[in-house]
Parts: sequence; C-alpha cells; structure tokens
Amino acid sequence: MKKIIIFLGPPGSGKGTQAKIIAEKYNYGHLSTGDLLRALQTKKNLTAEETTALAEMKRGRLVADELIYELVFKEIDRYIANGQGVVLDGAIRNVAQAKEYQKFFEQKKLDSEVIAIEVALPDAESFNRLANRRVCSACGEIVPIDPAAPATTCPKCSGEFVTRADDVPAVVEKRVREQGNVPLQPIKDFYKKLGVLKVVDGTQTIQKVDQDVQKLI
Ligand code: AMP
Repeated sequence: MKKIIIFLGPPGSGKGTQAKIIAEKYNYGHLSTGDLLRALQTKKNLTAEETTALAEMKRGRLVADELIYELVFKEIDRYIANGQGVVLDGAIRNVAQAKEYQKFFEQKKLDSEVIAIEVALPDAESFNRLANRRVCSACGEIVPIDPAAPATTCPKCSGEFVTRADDVPAVVEKRVREQGNVPLQPIKDFYKKLGVLKVVDGTQTIQKVDQDVQKLI
C-alpha cells in the first residue's frame, strides 16, 4: 500500500469521508486542510496571513498556497517519521500546489509512494450536496439533510447541527465554480501524467465508494 494517498474531488464529493475511513482503517494520518484551517478560528493571536486566510475561506475562495504548505508539510513529516502513511484530504487544489507537494515528496524520497484518487462528482450534484448538509457543532460529523424535514441534532452524539459558514448558497456557488470540476481538470492532468491517477464514482453510496477505493489502494 502506498504511503501518500491523495484524495481529489469537487466540494461535497465525499473525499473527506473516504479519507477518514482509510486513515482510521490503516492507522494513517488524516490531513484535511479545511479542518486545519478551521482550527485556526479558535487560535489566539493569529498572524496577518492566518486572518486573511480565514476571511478568504468564508468567502469560498482558496487561501494562500504558502499557508497550506506551512500547515501540512510538517504534519506529513511527523507521520512519516512515526512510520505511518498519510491521507491528504482536499490538500491540493491547484497545479502550483500539486507541483510543490510533488517537489516535497521527491526531496523526502516519497515520490514513488504517491497515489491520487479522484472522487468524481458532477458540479450540479456538488452544489446540491453542499446546500443540503449540516455539520455537528460537537463532533464535526457532516450529515445530509432532507430539506422538507431537516433534522436539528446529530444522530451520532445528539450535538446541535449548524450550517457551515461557507455552505450558504451564494458561497456554495463560488466554491463549486472555483473548486469544482473545471479547476480540478489541470490537477487531474498533472497526476495522470505522473501515471498515478485513479478514479472512483462519487455518486454511489459511501460504502460502495469505499469498496472501490479499497480495490485501488
Ligand atoms: P474543505 O473543508 O475541504 O471544503 O475546505 C474549506 C475551505 O478551506 C475551502 O473552501 C478553501 O477556502 C480552504 N482550503 C482548504 N484546502 C485548501 C487548499 N489546499 N488550498 C487553498 N485553500 C484551501
């Protein structure tokens, strides 16, 4: 099994869910840049760069590449030094990032350990999923809701559901435009050229997507 598993996919494709499943099952580090950035919200004395990033995030825009490297590379080092692999969840969202990560993996002699898995989902479905989901304020579980009868508490821990600040319709539209299938294409091309790109159908159930992922890794 490869040590560096990169999940790609438009927002709402379920790449985070799949990344968590794999990380738990194989005791790999789960590195979600969205989660690492959201964790900054509770940090005191933010740097100017971090403050800007949080504002960009709220608007549905990508944050600065340098901050992503700062957050993720040291975590990758930590897991690898500990003998573990890593699952990267949403950590690569433009070609500049894909190149910089690859350079990092080459320096660490990990480039032969990379596999990229696209959880494929049409943009229209991405939009629907983001607009109709809630996140548990206590445990972070993301749950799809039925707009006709929206649940208010988490089925896992009974925590209160909230709508993520960037899951409101105007921002969702921007996220799908700026992080959906159009901007994803050149990133996929990059990994295809390296011969490490695999694709699973993200419209299937979580269990079926997981089965397909397991076959690939
Ligand atoms: P996510 O939870 O993965 O949907 O990410 C939430 C937000 O964090 C995104 O809409 C971006 O604003 C920001 N973000 C996450 N990962 C990255 C990345 N690799 N590059 C730039 N911005 C990111």
